[in-house]
Amino acid sequence: MRLLSLFAISLFCSIAAFAQKTLLHCGQLIDVKSGKILSGMTVTIEKNKITDVRNGYLQPNKGDEVIDLKNKTVMPGLIDMHVHLESETRKGNVADRFILNPADIAFESLRYAKSTLQAGFTTVRDLGGSGVNVALRNAIAKGQVEGPRVYTAGKSIATTGGHADPTNGYRKELMGDPGPREGVINSPADAYQAVRQRYKDGSDVTKITATGGVLSQAKDGANAQFTIEEVKAIVAAAKDYGYKVAAHAHGAEGIKRAIIGGVNSIEHGTFMDDEAIQLMKQMGTWYVPTITAGKSVADSARIPGYYTDIVTPKALATGPQIQSTFAKAYKAGVKIAFGTDAGVFAHGKNWMEFVYMTEAGMPAIEAIQSATIKAAELLGASDQLGVIETGKLADIIAVDGDPTKDINAMGRVQFVMKDGKIFRRN
Ligand SMILES: [Zn+2]
Repeated sequence: MRLLSLFAISLFCSIAAFAQKTLLHCGQLIDVKSGKILSGMTVTIEKNKITDVRNGYLQPNKGDEVIDLKNKTVMPGLIDMHVHLESETRKGNVADRFILNPADIAFESLRYAKSTLQAGFTTVRDLGGSGVNVALRNAIAKGQVEGPRVYTAGKSIATTGGHADPTNGYRKELMGDPGPREGVINSPADAYQAVRQRYKDGSDVTKITATGGVLSQAKDGANAQFTIEEVKAIVAAAKDYGYKVAAHAHGAEGIKRAIIGGVNSIEHGTFMDDEAIQLMKQMGTWYVPTITAGKSVADSARIPGYYTDIVTPKALATGPQIQSTFAKAYKAGVKIAFGTDAGVFAHGKNWMEFVYMTEAGMPAIEAIQSATIKAAELLGASDQLGVIETGKLADIIAVDGDPTKDINAMGRVQFVMKDGKIFRRN
């Protein structure tokens, strides 16, 4: 009897807790579906979900909480499709690979995850790290540490000597011969093993380095590094596990092989030519531009000693190119999802990408759509993320000012809610 009444009390308490609502009174609300800005709206949140969106300022019932965002612009939580939460650029960090333990990386990544969320990015794709990014995703999901919802690639998949071969640039006796387990492949069979290993490690998405890269200790930052057959094997294996494939690619040949091989997105895409653009449109391949990374590496390369001698010329040649490539791809009608490569520059500055996208000719509203509804589509999470509407997860932010009139407003985030929980409230 006593047990029963205890049960009844706890049941009552949980019902009471469930009934409590949070009402956001939104001066302006960006409807990313229609591309319109609505004014004087109320968004209702129960637990971690949006349960109502309506015109006017709804009055609260007893126990409800009202959050006044009447002089703010409210929009869905932002999604960055390309970050690296394990690290952040600084001068001369080439030795980090030899001195940092996974625990050191883990502690550092806490700071980066927090500043990303505080900047209004409630979801990110972590496209490659040592594997600490998997543990970080789990700790954030459990609420143990503060950060965005993470979809992680774990360790990127490369080819021998290629961008993201983990022993690239080591002296010979340390190089060894990393294989599929470490994310290095040299055949379609290896490709399957590498994807399956990432599944075992707990990844959510597959990342390959289809061409050379700017920041690896190797001569060429743009050469093709996978065969079409290897890409196809990666894509087929990834499909078995429900993974999308993101391909880092700078040079046109590697970009085309990746598109033909069936990847879902081209990251950076620096030297894509007209043929590559047509192929992307034909295959429905997404473009994740990372203009901010391009500009940042070029700026850093001008600081003496910032990068090694082999990296500096690549950073100077490749970096500044991305913005004009983006302009061309946008004009041609390629599908674009927002991504920055944060980590290559300071985490939390992700919003700069909005400035560069609009500079290159994309209207502000479309840039915001690329970081919300479009990014959710590429993630395969449209049923939960990217839009403020009934039934979606309560990932909501607010900025000072109207970003469709002044894009710098994206850097003035005043309110951040993720999964119904408030992480920032100025
Ligand atoms: Zn990257």
